[in-house]
Amino acid sequence: MGHPGVQLLAVEVVDGLAGGLGYGSCGVLELAYYLVAEAFIGEIGVAGGAADGLLDLAFDLGSDAGDAGLGAPVGGVTGGVFDGVGAGCVLGTGGVQHKKRGQTDADGGEKVGKILHGGSFSSGVWMRLAGQRLVVLPTIEFGMENGSVSEQQYDVVVLGAGAAGMMCAAQAGQRGRRVLLVDHGEAVGRKILISGGGRCNFTNTGAKAENFLSENPHFAKSAMARYTPKDFIALVERYGIRYHEKTLGQLFCDDSARQIVTMLEKECAEAGVVTQCGVTVVAVRRADEGLVVETSEGSFACASVVVATGGLSIPKMGATAFGYELARKFGHAVVEPRAGLVPLVFGVEDRERWCDLAGLSTEVVGSAAKSVGAPGEKQVRRSAQDDKPKKGFREKLLVTHRGLSGPAVLQVSSYWRPGGEVRFDLAPGLEVFAPLRESISGRDWNSAFAALRAVLPTRMAERWIRIRAAASAGDWTNAGIARLEQELHAWTLRPDGSEGFAKAEVTVGGVDTRELDARTMESKRVPGLYFIGEVVDVTGWLGGYNFQWAWASGVAAGLVA
Ligand SMILES: Cc1cc2nc3c(=O)[nH]c(=O)nc-3n(C[C@H](O)[C@H](O)[C@H](O)COP(=O)(O)OP(=O)(O)OC[C@H]3O[C@@H](n4cnc5c(N)ncnc54)[C@H](O)[C@@H]3O)c2cc1C
Repeated sequence: MGHPGVQLLAVEVVDGLAGGLGYGSCGVLELAYYLVAEAFIGEIGVAGGAADGLLDLAFDLGSDAGDAGLGAPVGGVTGGVFDGVGAGCVLGTGGVQHKKRGQTDADGGEKVGKILHGGSFSSGVWMRLAGQRLVVLPTIEFGMENGSVSEQQYDVVVLGAGAAGMMCAAQAGQRGRRVLLVDHGEAVGRKILISGGGRCNFTNTGAKAENFLSENPHFAKSAMARYTPKDFIALVERYGIRYHEKTLGQLFCDDSARQIVTMLEKECAEAGVVTQCGVTVVAVRRADEGLVVETSEGSFACASVVVATGGLSIPKMGATAFGYELARKFGHAVVEPRAGLVPLVFGVEDRERWCDLAGLSTEVVGSAAKSVGAPGEKQVRRSAQDDKPKKGFREKLLVTHRGLSGPAVLQVSSYWRPGGEVRFDLAPGLEVFAPLRESISGRDWNSAFAALRAVLPTRMAERWIRIRAAASAGDWTNAGIARLEQELHAWTLRPDGSEGFAKAEVTVGGVDTRELDARTMESKRVPGLYFIGEVVDVTGWLGGYNFQWAWASGVAAGLVA
């Protein structure tokens, strides 16, 4: 049941209902049960004993008719007390649904159980409703550590079971902290699973703070120096995960991204982290001592809350603005989030010029030109990054049905601002039209095309020449040829937009780093509150950098939270 120090007190198997109750040394009750006979669906009721009426217990062996079934209520609010069943025993209605129908355990039975964490119990009861008959099973007595608990207690609650959250939870758990890791999705590590084409580009051997965009380019240095790509590679090797370098220091699993998720799950399990999926975090508030996390499954009191809810990219995978909203609520500034590592979309004119070539690709050096709005357009807010020379990325450019993509374009997109231009050197390091300059004859568009097709895909070369030929008769003087060469090395476009968060691999911007401690990721405004991973205004280039930031920032917080 995933918690160290839990002592299993009883297991009942009654006509196919198997249940287990345990009481943890740290004041945590763990209860899990399985419905192993289909016949039981719809005729089971379960009651939990709440001595104080404060039991934060929600479980459900519901029927199809009402998935909530007969469950104990949260906080002892609803439900009637059955005479003769035992003090404090509650048979409630409207328990909280927490399972997915159709989930099966290894035996093929439907797994409807859930690990519950209560505070104080004095008695518990298993019972079964068969038709009108109430069958009461022996009461199980188990101890209490203290009298009354209104909120479940943890040392650390990590919000978001993505890359950063899992890493942080495991790290904190290894220090002996009682850690709860929650996510509103159905499973942990969902973005890891789809990353790197299913093989997860889990780090980059050359990852340094310079590979990140942030209003404060120094912020990532400390965490990145303390948890390096070598550290993560050592972890991957310890789990026997085979990997390879694809290009430019990018390390991928040989087999599957699932291996990275499984590794992190094991790290969390071994560290005693309690993981709960399907839990929506509603709010975080300060308490007299520490913080309280309010969720769809009850409240959790803790000393530290780590916000690892990620950015806005790929909303259908569960991305929310929760982290930003929470940060703002506590007075943190948020650098306006925008889509990064995202395909760019052409305006009508460029789309007509280029998009019938969708599928063609070529190696370029791409960069984002200055982020100045087009004439008449609203001026975009300038930031520290806008005034920096834009980085050039030598990678592939791909023409798409709507604009441009490919690694070079994705890299550039993180630096691009609406209204700004992007620039591509279509023949990096080459002097393509030199042969034209070397002879006096044969200086025409045909010769230019012949020279260019040796460098670009033929249809792309033909299009590039045709567009220029339509605009000018051609200046075949040496100076004119030099200008043509220059244009080839600075193909400049003003995209109409990007494919947005739906297609973006990352979110640029996020929780402003000025009010975070670079060593620990702790808020300078709210002691005990931490922000890690993509929710922070630290965004990596394409190529394993974003995961390295997730690991490094997760460890930084996990070492102290
Ligand atoms: C298609 C794709 C491929 C990628 N490939 C790579 C790659 O190969 N290499 C690389 O370095 N990076 C890659 N990235 C980027 C990388 O996945 C992210 O930077 C990284 O996952 C960020 O980790 P995180 O833990 O901060 O956030 P996430 O992994 O996004 O995790 C955040 C978690 O918080 C949960 N959550 C959100 N809101 C709430 C809420 N209110 N309550 C409870 N839970 C909540 C979400 O369900 C999610 O599980 C890729 C991204 C995408 C989209």
